[in-house]
Amino acid sequence: MRCASSQHLLELHLDGELPASESVEIQEHIENCASCGGLYQRLEQLQSDIRTQVTRHRAPAHLQQSIQAALRKAAANELPARPLRWNWMAVAASVLLFASMAWNVTFLRSRDSARDVLAQEVLSSHLRSLMGTHLLDVPSSDQHTVKPWFNGKLNFSPDVKDFSSQGFRLVGGRIEYIAERPVAALVYQRRQHFINLFMWPAPSSSSSGYSEMKRSGYNFVSWTEDGMTCWAVSDLQTSELEQFAQLYK
Ligand SMILES: [Zn+2]
Repeated sequence: MRCASSQHLLELHLDGELPASESVEIQEHIENCASCGGLYQRLEQLQSDIRTQVTRHRAPAHLQQSIQAALRKAAANELPARPLRWNWMAVAASVLLFASMAWNVTFLRSRDSARDVLAQEVLSSHLRSLMGTHLLDVPSSDQHTVKPWFNGKLNFSPDVKDFSSQGFRLVGGRIEYIAERPVAALVYQRRQHFINLFMWPAPSSSSSGYSEMKRSGYNFVSWTEDGMTCWAVSDLQTSELEQFAQLYK
């Protein structure tokens, strides 16, 4: 089995949706190929993080009932009957969509501090970006390509820096929506780990403090400087993320 053909298969294998013969073949490949084995491990981790970390909201009873009714109807029309299968990516995507629709409600109800809410938004955005659909809008390791890409898309200009020589390679950027506004997201890679660095103009009330937090195995550092609020999140260990923040500041 060639590596190039295996990424899509890795996801199906993870969900137990491959025929047994292919499953055996890909399991053998994973055990013998460091690159696919590593990727498989990260997919497993990502799947479990999405299940446990991304904000979830209970669907209202009428929505549950109408979905169940639609599923029963679809199953009745399908011959021969097959058990319904959940594709976890699709489930995660609907959960995320529903989460964003319900965000305002949650915000009003939430007793979390504003900072915790922000950290949850940052983590959700980080995890979503790693789902493989939306890591980068501008994939480039050239800061002179990435910085102008934001022109006209944001009402501020993010400071784009590359730290390849220090082991933090710029891989690109995208626009995200955090703290009720569009923000710049810069993506850096260190070994197999990604760092999302979010930045936006600081509200006038914000202090310039530097702080770190850890939540569910992810590390966050945040600081405000030159009128910009910055948040970096990664599964890198604290000391490395700290090193990244010091370089950037
Ligand atoms: Zn491989």
